[in-house]
Amino acid sequence: MFHCRNCGYSKYRMCYSQLHDRFQGFEGVFGYGSCNKCNLIQIVDIPDNLANYYSDYRLHKHQSKMYSLFRRIIMGRCYPFSDAIGQQAVLDVGCGSGWYLKTMSKLGWKPFGYEMNSEVAASISNTLGYTVFSREEELERYIDYFDLITFNFSFEHLVNPKQLLRKMINCLKNDGKLSISVPNIQSCEASLFGNCWFHLDPPRHIAFFPKSQLESILTEIGMRNIHIRNLAVPIGFAGSISYLLFDRFQPLAWYVGLCFGLIFCRIIRDGIYQISATKPNYH
Ligand SMILES: [Zn+2]
Repeated sequence: MFHCRNCGYSKYRMCYSQLHDRFQGFEGVFGYGSCNKCNLIQIVDIPDNLANYYSDYRLHKHQSKMYSLFRRIIMGRCYPFSDAIGQQAVLDVGCGSGWYLKTMSKLGWKPFGYEMNSEVAASISNTLGYTVFSREEELERYIDYFDLITFNFSFEHLVNPKQLLRKMINCLKNDGKLSISVPNIQSCEASLFGNCWFHLDPPRHIAFFPKSQLESILTEIGMRNIHIRNLAVPIGFAGSISYLLFDRFQPLAWYVGLCFGLIFCRIIRDGIYQISATKPNYH
């Protein structure tokens, strides 16, 4: 049943139907609908057993140094990298394999992660030696603690995004920064590929917030200095080509697609957007 993750409304119009899990290959047929009240595009029926669709998930696996370097080259501009000033702390929500945190640690940041699945969180924590939370209650000791909180391609995975966002912002220091990078469903890239758009990724991608909606949510929560920028990276093009040709994620097609994707994203530069904001200091 449709229950809008933004406004709670239950009526919708179908946007994408008869979709399969082409990224991981799990069984099931999925659809995305657009809320009649606020236009949020989200999965019509969120599976009860959502965690099952993350078993053996590619982006949770430990990555080689070569892959990390490759990812930095291809995707680097989507992540907010910077040198730490003093002992600054960063919390990466949906930290996956910890790739971003590892790099931030090298830049002087004190790294913390958050992963919903407690087993995945424990595994990343054991491998990297960082604190990785998996429950919201664990954050209660970290109110006004972090200098930077990031959602790098994780916000679209959340079942209750607004609720978690509020909790995370409580954990941000005054003058702390928030950065959210998400697929842009209102993009030319998404329109061009339609049902084959790589970033649909059902049922793991739950909701796609249009830019203006996410901006309104952040304003409502009290965040300031909100900036939005489009990001041009070739992964959306490469994945979509793989889906068009093979109806599944085919690594070779993806790698070849990346080469053409580099040209494509010079022309169409809107597949992903990043929104950043500051928590105001009223004192
Ligand atoms: Zn809605």
